[in-house]
Amino acid sequence: MTRHRELLESDELAAVFPIFRDAEKVIADPVVRNRGTLGGSLCQADPSEDLSAVCTTLDASCVIRGPGGAERVVSMEQFHVGPYETAVAENEILTEIRFPFKPDRCGSAYAKVERRAGDWAVVSAGSAVWLADDGTIVDARVGLAAVGPNTTGIPEISAALRGREPAEELYEAAGAIAAESCDPVTDQRGSADYKRHLANELTRRTLRTAVTRARG
Ligand SMILES: Cc1cc2nc3c(=O)[nH]c(=O)nc-3n(C[C@H](O)[C@H](O)[C@H](O)COP(=O)(O)OP(=O)(O)OC[C@H]3O[C@@H](n4cnc5c(N)ncnc54)[C@H](O)[C@@H]3O)c2cc1C
Repeated sequence: MTRHRELLESDELAAVFPIFRDAEKVIADPVVRNRGTLGGSLCQADPSEDLSAVCTTLDASCVIRGPGGAERVVSMEQFHVGPYETAVAENEILTEIRFPFKPDRCGSAYAKVERRAGDWAVVSAGSAVWLADDGTIVDARVGLAAVGPNTTGIPEISAALRGREPAEELYEAAGAIAAESCDPVTDQRGSADYKRHLANELTRRTLRTAVTRARG
């Protein structure tokens, strides 16, 4: 499977989904990025996994292959069945990640708060926005990491943004939904309240950047 370094350095990928480069810049360090892979990240299923949040944001599907070449395709929500637990059976392997093609203008972004450079997220958020020719939002998705047992997409945010004109009040509303709907725990990285605050703020920031990028 594709290594972090390839995802970071690919200009083709950054042109279509800049969220990958945003995320890869803050994942670990060059030594880890030279070895670690997209598939390994998803299969590790750490609740703080940055690429799980990216794939959740982009509504990716996971192709799982079993004995004899039989394939099944599952959504990110189905793929992660708990912390450090996936839908991949012992005799199966993850072979491919697919991203839906949407013809509208797309922008995406990722932001993470970490205690020190390259650390796992205290909280991180990804946003993707698809705009119609008249500038209204056709679709939008937000994915959060480190605020629950697995990375979470928030359908209520998508519902609140679809069909609307991008505006600061809309990002504020989305941030408030993110803070309410996530489920962080207090640990050595911060209190649950602080993490909810970050979920709110990072959702607003990434939505703002995603819209700017979608406008070109
Ligand atoms: C010091 C350090 C810091 C890190 N910091 C971050 C960070 O800030 N953010 C972040 O998101 N990640 C971070 N990581 C994780 C890193 O990004 C790796 O991607 C992750 O450890 C997975 O590594 P890997 O691809 O080599 O998979 P492996 O370690 O080889 O595999 C992980 C698990 O998935 C299984 N597996 C792997 N590939 C497949 C497959 N295709 N099908 C089925 N099962 C599979 C393996 O059997 C194993 O159980 C960090 C890792 C380290 C060591």
